[in-house]
Amino acid sequence: MNELKLSKRLETVVSFIPKQSRLADIGSDHAYLPCYAYLHGYITMAVAGEVADGPFRSAQQQVEKTGLSHVISVRKGDGLAVIHPSEVDCITIAGMGGTLIANILEDGKEKLEGVKRLILQPNVGAHIVRKWLVDNDWELIDERILEEDGQIYEVLVAEKGSGLKPYHRLEAELLVGPFLLQERNGVFLKKWKSEVGHWKRIVAHLEAKGTTEESIAKKEELERKIRLVEGVLQ
Ligand code: SAM
Repeated sequence: MNELKLSKRLETVVSFIPKQSRLADIGSDHAYLPCYAYLHGYITMAVAGEVADGPFRSAQQQVEKTGLSHVISVRKGDGLAVIHPSEVDCITIAGMGGTLIANILEDGKEKLEGVKRLILQPNVGAHIVRKWLVDNDWELIDERILEEDGQIYEVLVAEKGSGLKPYHRLEAELLVGPFLLQERNGVFLKKWKSEVGHWKRIVAHLEAKGTTEESIAKKEELERKIRLVEGVLQ
């Protein structure tokens, strides 16, 4: 019963789970990720955490249907509150905004004792997750960027270590990702050309609109980000 199909996005997340891991998948929704990871031999057990009723029930149903209730425990609760200290050694958090992922990690800090690897897939705001990792001595060890169904996704992989180690130009690389910058693949270039184009259009709009203190501050912030990104893309 291992014909469960995963999106390319979630397959990429799973590919970074070390073999024999004890996994917590937080915000698991349908629990496809832990089911797939078990059926493909990545993990020995998992906790699937969900805060919302509908997704929690959907996770329970999926785990039962797949016959994995003995190895995947579906739990309702907020963020890392669903795991016991030292219960897992790998955590995946996928498909949420970067601010929410960073908040979940911050609020559950004491549960990270004994966790060896974090695999995080923010839909937006990856820089907020990178910043949290730097500030909390988690070392980014790899990154991926991929496109699926017209959306661009980033996957960040971190282990306990020196948070600043992968960075050479901290501010710009927090934004674009040090490993992704080094690789500069087509998806990466597409993402940042599109972002910079978007920021430039907002700047033009703000210039046309007038000069309130707020619009000047916003324009300057955008111009600073444009310089940062263009500076590393050259
Ligand atoms: N991880 C799956 C994926 O990537 O396909 C599901 C992503 S879904 C868009 C986000 C899920 O996170 C939702 O089911 C939501 O209920 C759950 N969620 C949001 N905040 C959460 C929190 N603080 N703790 C646990 N789950 C949370």
